[in-house]
Amino acid sequence: MSKVLLVTGAGRGIGAAIARAAGKAGYRVVVNYAHSKDAAEALAGEIKQHGGEAVAIQGDVGVEADIERLFKAIDDKYGRLDALVNNAGVIGPYGKVEALKAKDVEQLLSINVTGALICAREAVRRMSTARGGKGGVIVNISSAATTLGSPNEFIAYAASKGAINSMTIGLAKEVGNEGIRVNAVEPGLIETEIHEAAGPPGRLARLTPSVPLGGRGGTADEVAGPVLFLMSDAASYMTGAIIRVGGGR
Ligand code: NAP
Repeated sequence: MSKVLLVTGAGRGIGAAIARAAGKAGYRVVVNYAHSKDAAEALAGEIKQHGGEAVAIQGDVGVEADIERLFKAIDDKYGRLDALVNNAGVIGPYGKVEALKAKDVEQLLSINVTGALICAREAVRRMSTARGGKGGVIVNISSAATTLGSPNEFIAYAASKGAINSMTIGLAKEVGNEGIRVNAVEPGLIETEIHEAAGPPGRLARLTPSVPLGGRGGTADEVAGPVLFLMSDAASYMTGAIIRVGGGR
């Protein structure tokens, strides 16, 4: 039977591109969404129309009970899990640190960090060879913000992605002997709706001229490619790696 992949936050943006590419590559794809029900169901339908297998399942990764329900639904439907892409994320509050509110930071961290960690927990419980699993792969979607820092705009977001990198390195070491590889990609400026979610409009257009590779933003498909590579056997000796997909930025 073909491998089962969960992509969190896959109704739109980078997650949708990863789910679509994985469907084409033969994975059975769980398209998780929080709010984008129609888009997630349409994407699962599209994957099936192309001869693949997919299901859309709701679940807010900022809520532990939702994550547990999501993984239980995967157990019930497919009875196995081979790969997790921790993609769901929000950009959080815009502005300088001097204006930050704790409740906004906590909400950001609950999705970007706690959500990714708890999804990883559930995946490890199912995939670890030490727990009777067959091994597997986790790919975490980090950000170029980890090293750029996003001053004046999104430092809390950058910090949340720094945590993702630390988690990637630590978990890779923790489960390296349990058949699980854990890697991350750091997208740069990718053309999705996330840039308009907070702050003044036109962020992408303002920043993309500074991208060394052609002065352009990347596409979600250009992130999906490296993610599919990291999930594949071609990356069988890669774990704890953090791959920049930032057009040189
Ligand atoms: P996007 O277009 O805004 O999409 C965000 C996705 O995350 C949506 O599918 C959304 O689902 C999902 N999501 C948000 N909160 C969620 C929650 N609580 N539970 C489950 N899903 C949730 O953003 P994107 O650019 O594709 O971002 C995807 C990932 O790439 C994020 O981790 C982001 O930080 C990272 N990234 C993006 C860029 C970029 O330039 N675009 C650069 C670096 C890193 P619903 O619509 O269903 O709520």
